[in-house]
Order: sequence, then C-alpha cells, then structure tokens
Amino acid sequence: MSKTSILAFGAHPDDVELNAGGLMALTSARGERTVICHLTRGEMGTRGTPETREQEARAAAKTLGVSELEFLGQPDGWIEESEAAKRRLVTVLRRHRPSLVLAPYWSDLHPDHATTGALVRKAAFLSGLARIDDGLAPWRPARVLYYMSHDPIPADLVVDISSVFETKRAAALCYRSQFHDPDSTEPETFISRSDFWDFWEGRASWWGHFVGVRYGEGYFADGPIPTRNPVEIFQGFGKYKNADPEEGE
Ligand SMILES: [Zn+2]
Repeated sequence: MSKTSILAFGAHPDDVELNAGGLMALTSARGERTVICHLTRGEMGTRGTPETREQEARAAAKTLGVSELEFLGQPDGWIEESEAAKRRLVTVLRRHRPSLVLAPYWSDLHPDHATTGALVRKAAFLSGLARIDDGLAPWRPARVLYYMSHDPIPADLVVDISSVFETKRAAALCYRSQFHDPDSTEPETFISRSDFWDFWEGRASWWGHFVGVRYGEGYFADGPIPTRNPVEIFQGFGKYKNADPEEGE
C-alpha cells in the first residue's frame, strides 16, 4: 500500500468533513493518500438513518478526494476508552501507516468527540509498541493534530483553506439528512437550523483572520512544532489582518 499522508478520525460521519475537511481536500488535491475513519455510523442521530448517513459519508469522502473510507462500528453515544477500542485503533493506524493523524480535541461538549480524541491520542502511542502483537508492524505517526468540534480549542496551527473552502462546504452538504431542509419533517437540531452555516463559515473566517487569509482551520499540535526554516512557515501570512500577503505589513 502506498504511503498515507493523513488519516483522520471522527466520532460521527460529518465530524471530519465539517471540522477538518479543508486540510483533507488540500492534501488529496496534491495527489497524496488520505483516509477517513468514522468510529460510529451516527446511529443515535436525531435525523437520518445509519444507512443514509453511510451513503452520505461516501459521497462526502469522494467530494474531498479522500482515498479510502472506513467505519469502525463503535456505538454512537457510548464510545468508550476500552482496551478493545484502543486495539482496534492501533490496527487501523498500523494498516494505513499515516504521517499525520487528525482527531477531535479531547475536551468537548459531546462526550463521543472528547473520548475519540483521548482514544486516538493513546492509540497513536501504543501503535508504536512492538509488544502489542496484532500481526502488523508497529507504526507511530509523526504527530496527531486535534481539530475543533463544538468547543473552542487552544489552536497553535492554522491551515489556510481559502482555496478549497467551497469543496469543504460541498462535502459537508453531502450530509443532506443532517442539515437544513425546509421540506424535512424530522425534528430540528442545532446543525439543521438554517443559521448553522453562518456560524460554520464564521468559524473559518475567524481562524483565517489570525493569519491574514480568508478561511482557516485551527488545529492543536500537542507540542512544539518542528521546523528547519521558520521563515518559510510564516512567509506570506499576516497577523490580524486580511490583507494581500504579497503587499507585506
Ligand atoms: Zn459528532
């Protein structure tokens, strides 16, 4: 199997697309291998069925250009930090051998998001231990980056997703059962309200604002960010402005 650049974990189908879809689209567009792993099928969701959400997840992954999609079959609403769940994640990590892993930040309003973040954090370490024998070679990703779900996170990395923002939106909109539909007779939820998209786009503008781009995605890097060239990292980005980066300060 070719090398995987990014393996993104989400608790529910739509978590990765809504919160990290920009980075997935950017990476896929460069021709690199990307994988999404949904821990549950979203079967506790107020709207839609597991079957419709699985179809929607496949359409969303295709829109982002993701190479492979997996469902881990954990129970929606009741994801637990069990040994069995960690072993499942270790096997997924070893199978794909990703450079980077994405996961929800480990403190969040929704317990499944928080638990998924904590599970992935531990599994990414355990995956490197040779004594955990599942028949696959040990593998430890270079880093796990954590994305924001409901609650704000202490992001220390902002990815400029301006060029793929509409792709990200199109991928999220594949989850038609979850979002605003004036003809739907299902109960209303926060994300099915018509003003949800204002909040969602506002968040991308808000992250972008800190580095001087139209749209951004914030990540918590969980430790110092390594580089041999800090000039290159910051080149073309302004702070607290939406100016043309070429024009400088
Ligand atoms: Zn979720």
